[in-house]
Amino acid sequence: MDSVNVQTADGSRSTVDLTAIDALDANAKGRILLAGDQEYESSRKIWNGFFDRKPSIIARCMESGDVVKAVKFARDNSLLLSVKGGGHNSAGTAAAEDGMMVDLSLMRQVTVDGRKKTARVEGGALLSDVDFETQQHGLAVSAGIISHTGVGGLTLGGGFGWISRKHGLSVDNLISAEVVTADGRKVTASAEQNQDLFWGIRGGGGNFGIVTSFEFQCAQIGTEVFSGLIVKKFADARKYMQFHRDFVRGLPDEMTVWMVVRHAPPLPFLNEAVHGSMVVIVPFVWLGEKDKGEELVKPIRSITASHGEAMGMNPWVNWQSGFDGLVEHGARNYWKSHHLTDLSDGCIDAILEFASKLPTDECEVFIPHMEGVPGRVSETRTAFAHRRTPFLLNIHTRWRKASDDEKCIRWAKDFHDRTQPFAKGVYVNFLSQEGEDRVKEAYTPEVWERLVAVKKKWDPTNLFRLNQNIRP
Ligand SMILES: Cc1cc2nc3c(=O)[nH]c(=O)nc-3n(C[C@H](O)[C@H](O)[C@H](O)COP(=O)(O)OP(=O)(O)OC[C@H]3O[C@@H](n4cnc5c(N)ncnc54)[C@H](O)[C@@H]3O)c2cc1C
Repeated sequence: MDSVNVQTADGSRSTVDLTAIDALDANAKGRILLAGDQEYESSRKIWNGFFDRKPSIIARCMESGDVVKAVKFARDNSLLLSVKGGGHNSAGTAAAEDGMMVDLSLMRQVTVDGRKKTARVEGGALLSDVDFETQQHGLAVSAGIISHTGVGGLTLGGGFGWISRKHGLSVDNLISAEVVTADGRKVTASAEQNQDLFWGIRGGGGNFGIVTSFEFQCAQIGTEVFSGLIVKKFADARKYMQFHRDFVRGLPDEMTVWMVVRHAPPLPFLNEAVHGSMVVIVPFVWLGEKDKGEELVKPIRSITASHGEAMGMNPWVNWQSGFDGLVEHGARNYWKSHHLTDLSDGCIDAILEFASKLPTDECEVFIPHMEGVPGRVSETRTAFAHRRTPFLLNIHTRWRKASDDEKCIRWAKDFHDRTQPFAKGVYVNFLSQEGEDRVKEAYTPEVWERLVAVKKKWDPTNLFRLNQNIRP
């Protein structure tokens, strides 16, 4: 073999000489991997087992210089290019079938400045890397709730989790980023430098370049938070949801209470008879004194009967990884999502109708409460546009056998259609591959127009197209 077959960006086929690939490898601090190389299989794997894509060339980068060389190589050879941060995106955009993948998974360093309360995070870091380092100082970066998610994709799309109601979205805490652009330059994006790029990467996804490092403002949350799970009976779900929709909206920003409808996992505090049955799980995090937190969750406990509960002061890193096991790598997943304008009776009816027929035991209906600091930021300050809706509905469809694909995807799509009357917009990071019109719905028309202008300037040939794409 003296050349490698590749997919080009325009959809045609081409070949790349091995001598050119060897030269790229010799010049890189990381490795260039081809099928058959030892690390190739682990490098190409992504979270969603629904996709089994095999890039022809993988640039496993160790530093930003490697990323620059890989971008130039992809551009000069007109290759279909993908970027893998944590590899978690359910749409599977991190892996380019027969194209070239820039894999950032070796770039996970996190450096914390305890005095300034800032963290510099490499583009391939996972949330666990950030939590581990920031917690040495009692700090946290506002981000997601599963510790094996990548900081890269999460931040570029917006990023929310247990502390975002109090401390803002990940993008609201981004101070600057180092970006490798489509023309192979390394630039800084911040409030002072390349402001349009800085605006675009705060919600516009991976459309404008490869972020090799992020600088975040951290929040001083300490190393333990009062948090817990209250597991409510599904038979009372309607009554509980009618209470929840108003109750959570009246809580201080320090308290975050979400709702998950699913089959009960084998939680140690639940009677074994409950394991596997339908329940409404109410997880919460309180950033304050324990006594006040206990007082605040009392109405949740008393409004309807519970199967069980567990709450207390939990180390932040434990809480942040406590749900990892429910969504480990490898299963088949299909997500549909939208922001909800309310949880009206009609919306609750729709949720209960579809929750009653979950296609597999691993599917779940996930309803975070979004209001707080993010909602008090102007909708044009960053490219994360939909900041005024109180709830989000995420339909997590998860299964093991390919023979269940059709059943599971049909359920998610029908559920999504049925709740459309209560929806406004979608979080870009929860989109599947749903087409350009749907990507537009992640933004307001004004924000979309601006994103297209930023794309035209920074990536006029659409080199970064394997994402929720904004065409130049
Ligand atoms: C189980 C699970 C839980 C989740 N929980 C949350 C949550 O609590 N909060 C939340 O906000 N989101 C959450 N998400 C959604 C998550 O934000 C997205 O899936 C996100 O894309 C993951 O980032 P990643 O780097 O791991 O993904 P990847 O699949 O590696 O990347 C997705 C896309 O992002 C771009 N990208 C990634 N890294 C870079 C980079 N460094 N530079 C340029 N482009 C890059 C690329 O375009 C790539 O195609 C969750 C997802 C899953 C699967």
